Amino acid sequence: MNPAYPFSAVVGLADLKLALVLNAVSSRVGGVLVRGEKGTAKSTIVRALAAQLPRVAVVAGCRFHCDPGAPDPGCPDGPHETTAAGGADAAGALRAASLVELPVGASEDRLVGSLDLERALTEGVKAFEPGLLAAAHRGVLYVDEVNLLHDHLVDLLLDAAALGVCYVERETVSVRHAARFLLVGTMNPEEGELRPQLLDRFGLTVEVRATREPDERAEVVRRRFAFDADPEGFAARWAAEESALAARIARARAALGSVRLPDSRLRQITAVCAGFEVDGLRADLVTAHAAVAHAAWQGRDVVTREDVRVAARLALPHRRRRDPFDAPGLDERLLDELLDQTEPAAPDDPDNPEGPEDPDDSGGPGSGGSGGSSGSGAGDGAPAAPESAPEGGTEGARDGAPDGAAGPSEGTVSGDRPQDVAAAGAPFRVPVLKVAGVGAGVAGRRSSGRGRHGRTIGARVPTGAGPAGIDLPATLLAAAPHQLRRGRRGPGLVLRRDDLREPVREGREGNLVLFVVDASGSMGARRRMTAVKTAVLSLLLDAYQRRDKIGLVVFRGAGATVALPPTSSVEAGAARLRALPTGGRTPLAEGLATAAEVLRVERLRDPDRRPLLVVVTDGRATSGGDVTRAAAALAGVTSVVVDCESGPVRLGMAQALALRLGARVLPLESLGDLVRDRRKAG
Ligand SMILES: [Zn+2]
Repeated sequence: MNPAYPFSAVVGLADLKLALVLNAVSSRVGGVLVRGEKGTAKSTIVRALAAQLPRVAVVAGCRFHCDPGAPDPGCPDGPHETTAAGGADAAGALRAASLVELPVGASEDRLVGSLDLERALTEGVKAFEPGLLAAAHRGVLYVDEVNLLHDHLVDLLLDAAALGVCYVERETVSVRHAARFLLVGTMNPEEGELRPQLLDRFGLTVEVRATREPDERAEVVRRRFAFDADPEGFAARWAAEESALAARIARARAALGSVRLPDSRLRQITAVCAGFEVDGLRADLVTAHAAVAHAAWQGRDVVTREDVRVAARLALPHRRRRDPFDAPGLDERLLDELLDQTEPAAPDDPDNPEGPEDPDDSGGPGSGGSGGSSGSGAGDGAPAAPESAPEGGTEGARDGAPDGAAGPSEGTVSGDRPQDVAAAGAPFRVPVLKVAGVGAGVAGRRSSGRGRHGRTIGARVPTGAGPAGIDLPATLLAAAPHQLRRGRRGPGLVLRRDDLREPVREGREGNLVLFVVDASGSMGARRRMTAVKTAVLSLLLDAYQRRDKIGLVVFRGAGATVALPPTSSVEAGAARLRALPTGGRTPLAEGLATAAEVLRVERLRDPDRRPLLVVVTDGRATSGGDVTRAAAALAGVTSVVVDCESGPVRLGMAQALALRLGARVLPLESLGDLVRDRRKAG
């Protein structure tokens, strides 16, 4: 097998390297969520780190990776005899820390393991097949695109990560085993957000993007070429750096217990957390653990301001987020102000004054010491990592964070007169719009759907390769009439495979909510358009909370455009909507035809996800093709027309359109009458 790409050879990505290293040093930091675009070598670097983790001793034959020095007392493969520390050679083998990847499409059984109820019932044996959480114990669990993982799996995963224990419950049988691992998740925010309460469960977050600096990009490619051509030779050239790194991680781990967190620094941490208005105490805990880990990593025995700063920068960005429309990132000027205000008068440790790090300490390849390099500039708000210096724009963008996600996108509305862009008001709660019938789409919170989750409404003979869960009462009922013929003697039923029944569950599914918005001149009175944008923004927020995919088609002037292809990113939707200009004629038929095309393509891509069409218009077509024909192409799609007509004389055109679409009509005003949401204006 080829060696992993050396951690030390990874160019740039200083924050990510540092976050991983801090987790390698202290298991209490709580994992890393990596946010950023695709193609930034995220998996390469995680793999590289796993290779640097100290090797672990494992009880021979234990599928749950028990430590011979301290085996899990509840281990399903146990009980194991405890071996004296250092006795690993006798009891088990030293092996590399595992790196386990959790695929997005994994089943619950694959993640937590499966209790083979089928065998338990028909053969009378209690068979437990360990899942990925068991495989990851004492190693790294890597989840690419964690935001696309089913909510239910994310909950299981984060519960295990928080407790260090995996529980498997099936009907009346339960199994538990230790599952402690370094959790690394990645996500591309463009493809949808994690729920805020799940964001909070990751210890640290890092925003990554590929460097825009040509020299650095060239170096990335050069090293990748060299590695691909000769992995062994490449690894050998980096061997010295890699073993220095592994030794430094091991040293920091060993020193962790003796790092002191003075009370003044703890108070500084809590003041910074309070200053960023984070909820709960998890932020304070994670920041404290990360600061201690950073001190150990830097070879200090007492936590300094620099350690607190680095920890806060990594631990707080995702915790201060209030709603899906806020931009990520942390205001570093505010961070430095808060640190200044709370800086203890006396140095924490006269023997170890704060100041610039030993250059060797932070400069080496892959040392992850970017935090250290900013030590001297801690008071002036200078960005930390030298690697990020060429990307001057990043810091600027971060400073502009309070403007929200709409900021950058508004700049892209070139060619349209800016005065035509109406603002949106504060979103309000909207009535629940549902797709008729029962679907089989991904779990969500909108329409009725059948799937693996939800309320059990019946039982049936398994339809797939094996039963999707076992409905015990139905299985017993199926077996009962055959007991005499099967020669049952004594207690217990004689069960056969064809007695097994699986539950039929009904819950709710997510949908594709496709907005078709009329932005033409007939809608163009600024106040009108503000009301329209507010209504659509409210519907978008609702779609986010119901875990729908959303899309946005806009028609005005010469035709219709797909302003937002179907995505789970409500931020992108909100940004496009805010920037939406208005004016021109009303090509209604083109809007409908474009929507039909979007739905056709999406049906191919995601056939189980049922669409809900929301047409926002006054229904007045002033140009373009035949509306009747365009509406016919949308037959069978559950639709809603939000009627935007206003004024004393009304033409009722939206009603006519709704009739053609078989749609329900909701007057725009009726949406706004509902309870104002708690969200602030903006
Ligand atoms: Zn064990």
